[in-house]
Amino acid sequence: MENKIATPHSGSPPVVVVGGGFGGLSCARALAGSGVQVTLIDRKNHHLFQPLLYQVATAALSPADIAIPIRSILSDAANVEVLMGEVVAVDHHERCVILEDGQRIPYGILVLAVGSAYNYFGHPEWQDVATSLKTIGDARRIRARLLRSFEEAERCNDIARRSRLMTSVVIGGGPTGVEMAGTIIELARHTLRRDFRHIDPSHARVVLVEAGRRLLGALPEKCSSYALQTLRKKGVEVHLGTTVKEIDETGIRTETTEIAAATVIWAAGIRANPAAQWLGVEPDRSGRIAVAPDLSVPGRPDIYVVGDAAQFDAGGHPLPALAQVAQQQGRWLGRHLRTGRPPSAFVFRNRGDTAVIGRDAAVYAFRSWSFTGRLAWFLWSLVHIVLLIDFEKRVLVSFQWLWRYITSSRGARLID
Ligand SMILES: Cc1cc2nc3c(=O)[nH]c(=O)nc-3n(C[C@H](O)[C@H](O)[C@H](O)COP(=O)(O)OP(=O)(O)OC[C@H]3O[C@@H](n4cnc5c(N)ncnc54)[C@H](O)[C@@H]3O)c2cc1C
Repeated sequence: MENKIATPHSGSPPVVVVGGGFGGLSCARALAGSGVQVTLIDRKNHHLFQPLLYQVATAALSPADIAIPIRSILSDAANVEVLMGEVVAVDHHERCVILEDGQRIPYGILVLAVGSAYNYFGHPEWQDVATSLKTIGDARRIRARLLRSFEEAERCNDIARRSRLMTSVVIGGGPTGVEMAGTIIELARHTLRRDFRHIDPSHARVVLVEAGRRLLGALPEKCSSYALQTLRKKGVEVHLGTTVKEIDETGIRTETTEIAAATVIWAAGIRANPAAQWLGVEPDRSGRIAVAPDLSVPGRPDIYVVGDAAQFDAGGHPLPALAQVAQQQGRWLGRHLRTGRPPSAFVFRNRGDTAVIGRDAAVYAFRSWSFTGRLAWFLWSLVHIVLLIDFEKRVLVSFQWLWRYITSSRGARLID
């Protein structure tokens, strides 16, 4: 079925923004209250604060703490309409996007902010056994698997099976992998320590596997070695220079070893969502679309790409896939579209690269400075509070962090 919908107000077709993540939402918010008609389309009804997903996966936060309905964020913006639907194609001759049910939404300007997905490097079958962490559903699945494994271990008399149930493997030593490994070991060794009678959760084994020579490869060497030392001190087994060859429901195999594990988490690399296919342009190795300095697609002045789906060249190297990049690009583009002035060149203002390793351990790198430990943890918190889209969430999450920091508690230990 194909049907056209009218633009919501008279006048030219709207700015259509696909994606209500960091990039798309910032763009729509920058256009709110302007004379420009905006349609924001997302397949989900919520904006998700992905940097805190690991806290949902490890039972520190509840899903509703880090997700907020897109409709409610934009409810005061009379010129912005929100549609829930999955975009499957772009007809750039007819200037419309096509939803999964065939509905066509016309655009005057199109902003693609569709983000990225995990890359299983040619092994799609691993998705079923090694959950990645991208959506609320993923975080809930990981949380359920982790907690259920301890529950099963409590009733299990077989030593080998019990040991497998109490083993978690995280694949990928970037920020997400480091965060997950550090937090799982804290969950086992501190939070769950007194909760069981037949097992000792502090004997849980957490293994972090990284193919590269060091953890946090995008950060300075000092941050990598601090992360390695801190994780090892906490009890995480770190295998560097190790490539995973096989994963199934029993665990993983590398070139040198076999690890029986009930929970395997994939955090090993991302690939942009398929916007390049929609436009018929050649993507880079990570599926991203190379954009011009004004974030437009070369040769398509009415189409812009922001965030993880864009490959933006910043003086010879592409900007990383980070929330702060997506947010700044979306806001910058929205402001330009609002005034109608031809956009100049986007300039990224880095607030620092950061990763958290545990309750009071983090790394933070800014220009030629790098900090580790408690100070870095506070800087990490500041950067993330600034990224939170909603003022109430900022206050709520800040209090929750402070409370958990003081008490080490984890309130969301539910298996659903
Ligand atoms: C676990 C994790 C931890 C992270 N930690 C950090 C961190 O600490 N600091 C940091 O800066 N960055 C972090 N990131 C990266 C950051 O979240 C991304 O760079 C950022 O979300 C990119 O913004 P975006 O707008 O490009 O995409 P997203 O925020 O992913 O938004 C994309 C939106 O598009 C929608 N969408 C996708 N395809 C379609 C379609 N076909 N039709 C309709 N809608 C569609 C999605 O539903 C989604 O809402 C983390 C990411 C993950 C997964």
